[in-house]
Amino acid sequence: MAKRRSSNTGLPADVEERAKAALRVLKKHYPIAECALNHESPYELLVATILSAQCTDARVNLVTPALFLAYPNAATLAKARQDDVEKLIRSTGFFRNKAANLIGMAKGVVEKHNGEIPASLEDLVQLPGVGRKTANVVLGTAMGIASGVVVDTHVTRLSNHLGWTTSRNAERIEQDLMALFPKRDWIGLSHRLIHHGRQICIARRPKCHECPLLPNCPRVGLPDLEPAAVAARGAKLGRND
Ligand code: SF4
Repeated sequence: MAKRRSSNTGLPADVEERAKAALRVLKKHYPIAECALNHESPYELLVATILSAQCTDARVNLVTPALFLAYPNAATLAKARQDDVEKLIRSTGFFRNKAANLIGMAKGVVEKHNGEIPASLEDLVQLPGVGRKTANVVLGTAMGIASGVVVDTHVTRLSNHLGWTTSRNAERIEQDLMALFPKRDWIGLSHRLIHHGRQICIARRPKCHECPLLPNCPRVGLPDLEPAAVAARGAKLGRND
């Protein structure tokens, strides 16, 4: 008999139910869904997110204090010399491109938005160096606007292992997650998946034996677990908490 499918996502209903259960577990294990990039305003988060491409959040947090001191807003950054910005952000990698994008972004904000970071996805993605992921980060985390789901490398990997999507394309994954979860969960979902991807569901060596999501995770794309190890953890993993 064919599996019952959800009209919203097209996924089998049991996949949708396991996804909801997994989100409950994620909320319990990561009650505070925070961004790891230090910031005190939408401008600072936008700058930090642009710098975080191909770089760790910890490294970005090391360079942003001096950068924000030198350029505390879009108006000052728009007038910056490329060389000066490069010196401050060099250790984040791809520093020439990033410096050009930062200055270009700031000029766009000053010229088109009166110096204020725009609060819409459509306006943000017009700025140099700002893609859909960066725009969703700024809108969701700094402005509390659920414009979509942030899809990075962790969200891509976990969503596939968990069977929430079959795609590796960020925009397709975002659409799948937006169909699967209510809007109120979109902002926290990506933060929690990113935390989980860093701590437990690590690329190439996911710690499935320690993972509270195991009862609700089909582990798509991963080899079978050792039966003995599963048995040893059986009692604990039998609970959905
Ligand atoms: S059970 Fe394994 S694959 Fe599934 S989320 Fe946990 S660590 Fe990742």
